[in-house]
Amino acid sequence: MVSLLLIGYSVIRIGLNEFRAHRAIATSVLAAELAVPVKAGQITSTPVQKPDVYLIVLDEYANAAILHELFGATNQEFEDSLRALGFTIPRLVRSNYAQTTLSIPSLLNFAYLGGLAAEVGRQSNDRSLPDYLLENNRVVPFLKAQGYQFVFFPSQWWRATDHNRHAEREFQVKGGYSLRRALAASELQRLLSRFTLLGAVGSVHPTMAEYIKQTFEGLRRLDTGGKPTFVFAHLIFPHGPYVFNARCEPKVGPHLSEPDQRYLDQVRCANALILELVGALLRRADKPPIIVLQGDHGSGMLGFNLAPKAALVTPAQARERFGAFGAYYLPAGGGQLFTDTVTIVNVFRKILPYYFGADLIPEPDRLYMSLEDSPFDLVEVDPVSLR
Ligand SMILES: [Zn+2]
Repeated sequence: MVSLLLIGYSVIRIGLNEFRAHRAIATSVLAAELAVPVKAGQITSTPVQKPDVYLIVLDEYANAAILHELFGATNQEFEDSLRALGFTIPRLVRSNYAQTTLSIPSLLNFAYLGGLAAEVGRQSNDRSLPDYLLENNRVVPFLKAQGYQFVFFPSQWWRATDHNRHAEREFQVKGGYSLRRALAASELQRLLSRFTLLGAVGSVHPTMAEYIKQTFEGLRRLDTGGKPTFVFAHLIFPHGPYVFNARCEPKVGPHLSEPDQRYLDQVRCANALILELVGALLRRADKPPIIVLQGDHGSGMLGFNLAPKAALVTPAQARERFGAFGAYYLPAGGGQLFTDTVTIVNVFRKILPYYFGADLIPEPDRLYMSLEDSPFDLVEVDPVSLR
C-alpha cells in the first residue's frame, strides 16, 4: 500500500511538472515574440553566396585572458594558429549569462532572456522554457528560409541539446547501445554509476572521450552534398568530466592532478582537435565557410556557483565566469565586425545582417549573473567592475 502511494504520488508530481512546463511554453510572451521570423533584406553586393555556417559551441572554454590570469597558462600558440588560418579573435569576448541553460539559447536567439524570470518565477529551476527556446531557436528558421539545410551534432548529456526536431540530419556516434554509454548520458546516470553497483561496468569516461572524438571526426567528414548547410554542434568540452590528458589520450585510472591542471589539459586537447577540424574544413571547402567557435561561458574554478546568492558572487568570480572564448572565421571582410568587444547575444546580430541582410541591430553588451540552482534569479553585473 505504501509503495503504491509513493509511486502514485511521484507519477502525479511528474505529470503536474510536465503539464506546467507545457503551459509555460504555450503561454510564454517571450517565446511568442521570438517566434516571429527575422526578415532578410536585400544586400546589394553579397559578400559570399550562401556560405556554409558552422557553429561549434565549446562548453566552458574560457578566453585567453582568464587562462592566463587564473592558470598562468598562455593560449598564444593556439590563437596565433587560428589567426594564421584567417580567424578573428576579438579583444574581449564575454557571455551575457553565467549558466549554459540561458547562454546557448541567448546565442541562438540573439536575444536577452531576462523576461523568463517573470514567466517561470525567479526561484524556479524548471528549464523547459529555455530548453524549448534552444531547440526552437531563431537562427534555424532564418537560414532555412534562405535555402539552408540544418545538420545537428548533439551533445552527449546536456538535455537541451541531445536532439533537435528541426534538423534534416542528426549525427549519431558509431557503436550503438552500450550500458556504459547509457550511464554517461546524464549527470544523474553518471552519479548512479559512481555510487551504486552499476559502477561494476567500469568508468564511463572512455565512452565520453570517444563521443567527443567521434563528434570532431563527424564534423570533419561531413558531406553537405553541395547544399548550403547550417551545422550546429554542442560539445561539452573542455567542460568536465576531464576525460583527456594534454596529449588527447583518454584518461584511465584515478585523477591525480589538481582540477585546474585537468581543465588545462582538456583545453590543450580541445585546441588540437579544433585546429585539425578547422584546417580540414577550410581546405575542403569550395567556397569559404563561416566558422563560429564559441565558449558558452568561462570556467568556474573560483567557485562562483557556491556563492549563497548571485548578488554575492565576487567581481573576480564573475570575471572568470563571463570570460568566454570566441574565435570567428568570417570570409569577405566579416571579421572587421569582431575586432573589439563581443558578447554572445550579438554574435548572430553581427553575422546575419552582414551576410544575409537580416533586419537586426546590435544589443548593448549586458551581463547577468545567476547560480546553477536558480538560473532565472538574475543579477545585472556592471562590466566596468570586472576590468
Ligand atoms: Zn556551459
